[in-house]
Amino acid sequence: MILASTFDGKRVAVFGLGGSGLVTACALVEGGAAVTAWDDNPESVERANDEGISTTDLREVDWSALNALVLAPGVPLTHPRPHWTVDLARDNGVEIIGDIELFARERRVRAPEAPFIAVTGTNGKSTTTALISHVLKSAGRDTQMGGNIGRAVLSLDRPEAERHYVVECSSYQIDLAPTLDPTVGILLNLSPDHLDRHGTMERYVAIKERLVAGSAAAIVGVDDEHGAAVADRLERAGRKVVRISVSQTLETGYFAHGAELVHAEAGRAEPLVSLHGVGSLRGLHNAQNALAALAACRISGLSSEEIQAGFESFPGLVHRMEQVARRGQVLFVNDSKATNADASAPALSSFSRIYWIVGGLPKEGGIEKLRPLFPRVAKAYLVGEAAPAFAATLGEGTSYEISGTVAAAVEHAARDAQDDPAEEVVVLLSPACASFDQFRNFEIRGEAFREAVFSLAGVEAIGGKG
Ligand code: ADP
Repeated sequence: MILASTFDGKRVAVFGLGGSGLVTACALVEGGAAVTAWDDNPESVERANDEGISTTDLREVDWSALNALVLAPGVPLTHPRPHWTVDLARDNGVEIIGDIELFARERRVRAPEAPFIAVTGTNGKSTTTALISHVLKSAGRDTQMGGNIGRAVLSLDRPEAERHYVVECSSYQIDLAPTLDPTVGILLNLSPDHLDRHGTMERYVAIKERLVAGSAAAIVGVDDEHGAAVADRLERAGRKVVRISVSQTLETGYFAHGAELVHAEAGRAEPLVSLHGVGSLRGLHNAQNALAALAACRISGLSSEEIQAGFESFPGLVHRMEQVARRGQVLFVNDSKATNADASAPALSSFSRIYWIVGGLPKEGGIEKLRPLFPRVAKAYLVGEAAPAFAATLGEGTSYEISGTVAAAVEHAARDAQDDPAEEVVVLLSPACASFDQFRNFEIRGEAFREAVFSLAGVEAIGGKG
């Protein structure tokens, strides 16, 4: 655990005692702070007590004696309205921060030279964070990964000079990190998201921009107008900006040319690594993630060969276009995380002949948005409550069956795909729906898919390169 020693001897309120909140409270206590913690959920309060954290209803404490309020990122800071702890803190002039801020302060004090790569963006954060961490580790670097992905940042090992931190930051976490100063900041892309929590697109962009504005080197995706504007603003302010693009040839920066990832400096372009045959990084969206990882790893001193090797052994993230197995020309892909049509679009765009397992608890709009991708679907296997509605959307143009369950769908799709003469076909679970009608969560749905695949005869498990 990383001790939050910058509040040694100070009084700190912690609100929000889920996984990361509890770790934060412990890190503050270990670091010498007097912590008072609270949560609106009595079970969380009880759990904190079990961990030895002192709890008091924060409505009843003397706020003038507090030095900080540490909030869990899920607690509203501004929208739809500030949480009551936020109002109390503001009324009493108490600063409001989160665990990433505590990490940034600790690193500055303990090991400011420890490389700190922070990743944000509307989409692709987890993939990029996991990819960078994997490549650094494969090249033998001491690497810690956490933040919005996996482990709470303060549960990682303590900062040391040669220890690399790769930290995924959601906009909520950035909002709670006023002095965020990564060595490398990555802003992948920007599109409207979570505006209920951030108010307006301008505000959302401004929060995300802060991560790269505070970085020694800023890697910015310039394929959307917001990212392009951020890159221009940072450059005008004299910051070091590295642009990445999957849609344009850049004079200076990193861009994709087919499967080749190219670095250009004043018009001189040099291909550095190739995504050809790297199954875990298929699709244009993953090329964007890979470009960001390439730029970050080069800044961290890795060679193109080390990065290429890391890409090739990257297993991908579970439940996100995860390549599970192969049988002959049939690839089995688990994209259970895709719980709405937008989230299914990248997977459908990444394959050309698809036996598509789709359905569950439908979201508004269903799969209508995916209509332009239907020509890639050899046949759809409909599961869950969405089946009748999706059957109507697919209509006469796309062949389908109502399979009912994921297990039946896998069996039928595997049988049909087997006879397909195409060079590569995919049995893809990309449900475009929530899972709750049949499963507790999307992870369990993905596991059901995996189990059904491995109950078939003759399938071979696969890793990153497929
Ligand atoms: P995040 O952590 O930002 O939610 P993930 O890496 O977990 O992103 O990817 C979630 C889904 O978002 C993927 O399954 C894919 O459908 C899509 N995605 C991934 N990377 C990108 C990207 N660079 N641009 C657009 N969509 C992406």
